[in-house]
Amino acid sequence: MYVKILGAAAGGGFPQWNCACDNCARFRAGNFRGKARTQSQVAVSSDGRLWFLLNASPDLRVQIEATPELHPRRGLRDTPIAGVILTSAEVDHVAGLLHLREFQPFRIYATPSVREILTRDNSLFKMLERNTPQAVWTDIQPGCCFAPASAEGKVQELRCEPIRVAGDFPHYVSPERRAALPDDAAVLGLAINNTQGACMIYMPGMPQVKEFLPRFHDCDLLLADGTFWTDDELQRVGASSKTAREIGHLPISGKDGSLSQLAEVRRPRKMFVHINNTNPILDEGSEAHAAVRNAGWELAEDGWECRL
Ligand SMILES: [Zn+2]
Repeated sequence: MYVKILGAAAGGGFPQWNCACDNCARFRAGNFRGKARTQSQVAVSSDGRLWFLLNASPDLRVQIEATPELHPRRGLRDTPIAGVILTSAEVDHVAGLLHLREFQPFRIYATPSVREILTRDNSLFKMLERNTPQAVWTDIQPGCCFAPASAEGKVQELRCEPIRVAGDFPHYVSPERRAALPDDAAVLGLAINNTQGACMIYMPGMPQVKEFLPRFHDCDLLLADGTFWTDDELQRVGASSKTAREIGHLPISGKDGSLSQLAEVRRPRKMFVHINNTNPILDEGSEAHAAVRNAGWELAEDGWECRL
């Protein structure tokens, strides 16, 4: 199984266009030790030929151009991108679908709730339904495994299990729609296995870890929520009144943070993804960065890849 990280930052990217937090300001001033990152995007493939995107980032067009494996290979219109697997209806996870609107057939895996939010309430996404076939929506459910397949039915030798994660629907979903939807399908994690038994887990939003620990112990690659360093990070920079936990992200530091709670998870290669621009771990000269690296974690970067 091939895994590529096309974007390693949380929503807004790093630096974020309207942000003058310590990280973003120092990056622009040229005195920041650390890399820019685009908004969260991962791609997986069993054979390196057909690829599935895990979510569709607002930066997807640039990310595809930066990734030769995802370029057209033959004819005037072609793509190795066979489909997209959505973990939520958040703008940061679905806006990139609109980059894929040029009459190209591809499959979209989503829970029925996420599909309804996008196709019934947001008419922009009708741009994906001008051709037959174009976007082929396929329902998924937490705990029900599927083998990702292209719109034409070419099946990848992968087994994907959506994992139920506590979380809410995005702010833009109307109260009426929200009331009509089951609240157990708002946010997913993904466990993806190949036929040789290698397993990666992708959890860009991880409000807690306890119930996932047995899975984490058994996997080979853990791409975990690295959004915030502290629970009050957004409050501290004055960006929001909400805590990290209140918006579905377990902070990395602290007694109950992910670094401490996942210290005993030794088998997988552990990597923080979905890193918010305010997070001090982005600064390679910071104590936070050193703490994460000394604990055996890696920081996802745009363009990172591995083969499991
Ligand atoms: Zn910032």
